[in-house]
Amino acid sequence: MIPAASLPLQPEPAHSAPRWQQAWRDAVRDPMALLAQLRLPELAARLSPQAAAQFQMRVPQGFVARMRVGDAADPLLRQVLPLDDEMRPAHGFSLDAVGDAAARSGAGVLQKYNGRALLVATGSCAINCRYCFRRHFPYAEETAARDGWREAVDLIAADTSVEEVLLSGGDPLSLATHKLAELTAALIRVPHLKRLRIHSRLPIVLPERVDQALLDWLAPLPWPVTLVVHANHANEFDAQVDRALARLRGVGVTLLNQAVLLRGVNDSVQALTDLSERGFAAGVLPYYLHQLDRVQGVAHFEVDDDTARALHRALAARLSGYLVPRLVREIQGDTGKRPL
Ligand SMILES: *Cc1c(COP(=O)(O)O)cnc(C)c1O
Ligand code: SF4
Repeated sequence: MIPAASLPLQPEPAHSAPRWQQAWRDAVRDPMALLAQLRLPELAARLSPQAAAQFQMRVPQGFVARMRVGDAADPLLRQVLPLDDEMRPAHGFSLDAVGDAAARSGAGVLQKYNGRALLVATGSCAINCRYCFRRHFPYAEETAARDGWREAVDLIAADTSVEEVLLSGGDPLSLATHKLAELTAALIRVPHLKRLRIHSRLPIVLPERVDQALLDWLAPLPWPVTLVVHANHANEFDAQVDRALARLRGVGVTLLNQAVLLRGVNDSVQALTDLSERGFAAGVLPYYLHQLDRVQGVAHFEVDDDTARALHRALAARLSGYLVPRLVREIQGDTGKRPL
């Protein structure tokens, strides 16, 4: 028998990059390679190099592993594959659907809603979702993190009506943990803050991100922390995602989900029911079901408002009240998400 003391402990080398950053870099970027991996050569003819050039394909290996091999209609694959559908012009789909270009201050702070300040923490994401407004605006230059958060924190400190800070992006958890800690260290000195909220798809698409360093950052924060994840389909959850979410709950984080209603992904009562139930099994309550932002290249994902309302009514008839997300659309200039 080997004495316990002689077992190698395998600590992380002190200055090596965290493991999640390696998983981030290993994302699949070549649509042909993805189709080969999923044994779907017949989809090659529908790929669009222009769409891929406009908004690069990017999908972490762990997310690919949740796709069904040989299924051309896989709901996860549909969210990431750059298809020629995106290049078809569609009436009413513009470049800045929610008017953020106008509302965005230079400091990367968005204040559209009462009591809340949204920080555009970064332009980066671990996954590129084809339906996202971000396909036209990576926002890489205007982030709140740019100057060590100084301008953003000053704005929040000067406005006593701000009780909740929202970290959004891009994906705020794509920032290094020490960078996030730098922000909260500054915010701790702002007495009127009561809540911190983080909007991130990383716990779903790159659960490796929920490492010990992230938990060590979150656990001692002085405010209740809410993490709004983003999953559109029940298949986006697996055992590794469940573990990541359980660890977050373990340090007291409240977990909510926002989804986007997407044709061919989750536009059925069954798919939406499964999403709410699967999320809840992982400790996540549904929050919002969004009608998509009408930006160029996403028209083939759109579900019309009447269909959306009918789906939502059917969901409400079928599920416990707390498993029914609010169906909303973001309207330019509004003071909150508008219920449909
Ligand atoms: C969506 C959003 C919020 C948060 O809205 P909730 O309804 O509280 O989730 C805050 N600020 C901006 C700019 C937003 O777009
Ligand atoms: S912001 Fe969210 S929806 Fe858009 S690409 Fe990033 S993860 Fe996907």
